Amino acid sequence: MKAKIIKKKDILDRLINGYEVFAPVERDGLILFETIGSGSEALLGYQSSKMPPKGILFPQSETLFSYSSTKDTANIGVPPGLEKPRLIFGIRPCDAMSFRLLDKVFDGECKDPYYINRRATTVVVSVGCTTSRASCFCTAVGGGPFSAEGSDLLLIDIGDEYVVQIVSDKGARLLEERGFEDAGEDKLALVPEVIKAAEASMEPGVEIYGLKEKLDNRFDDPIWQQLTEKCLGCGVCTYLCPTCYCFDIVDEVVGSGGERIRIWDSCQFPLFTLQASGVNPRPTVRERFRQRIMHKFSYFVDVYDQIGCVGCGRCVTECPVNLDIRQVLNSIAQLEVVK
Ligand code: SF4
Ligand code: SF4
Repeated sequence: MKAKIIKKKDILDRLINGYEVFAPVERDGLILFETIGSGSEALLGYQSSKMPPKGILFPQSETLFSYSSTKDTANIGVPPGLEKPRLIFGIRPCDAMSFRLLDKVFDGECKDPYYINRRATTVVVSVGCTTSRASCFCTAVGGGPFSAEGSDLLLIDIGDEYVVQIVSDKGARLLEERGFEDAGEDKLALVPEVIKAAEASMEPGVEIYGLKEKLDNRFDDPIWQQLTEKCLGCGVCTYLCPTCYCFDIVDEVVGSGGERIRIWDSCQFPLFTLQASGVNPRPTVRERFRQRIMHKFSYFVDVYDQIGCVGCGRCVTECPVNLDIRQVLNSIAQLEVVK
């Protein structure tokens, strides 16, 4: 492992110059990712943020372009690029892994320049989880409390210091510029124990093996009625999910000009699939909830060969009726494969 070492109290002040830095902060009792001006503002020992940091790369609302016209002219204005490169400090490995999934969507066959530009100018520094919440299940979906996927640097807590694992060239360049010291053998020797203890503390949570095959021929299965009985269709699970990326595009028109705006949307809302004819192919909560599960655990796997969930547990802790996705998945896992 290529790694450097840094004192916890120094790290942000060594990294912050030249970047717009987003870090976990507490605002009105909520932990959120916001811009900070000095290292002392960041919370180092949090467990999970209320909102996922995906909004830094894929904002909840953004202007794609503005337009105006007169009788003789028409103008299109594209928003300016970022003034400074960005650094996201202290995200959890599950949230960093969600960026990899968003990369597949926004930088795959279809290219989204807004996302791609932000991603290219952002350094992601994640912090491994030495403790987990009861709702976490990252290990069941291919992640782990010290997974480096989606990060440029991964911080491993060894007491007063972090071992800084170099994951990408972008991360290596940053450490080189800031003159971090190499981690010695004595420090590196502490890392496997920290990782082992964190992994051992996690509940197995979910049975994922063979799940896709069980979902594949169950589109019209009566189990969806049972599983969705208490869902309110509020959409909280999708808004707080780091891997959900559905959006709507609206024109806000003022006179002969206006702005085209992209806003997050949710497959849990009836309007999401309501057609102009008045037909809605997902008329009830049953079809909308089924879509959420099928998309993440079957369709996403078909298209990207990966599960569309990182096991962050936000939908588990925040659902107002305690509809636990792990119980849903485990109920499906107990079914036979339908041929
Ligand atoms: S948060 Fe719970 S109640 Fe709301 S849409 Fe999701 S599963 Fe249904
Ligand atoms: S489905 Fe739930 S557990 Fe999975 S990534 Fe989304 S919010 Fe996290």
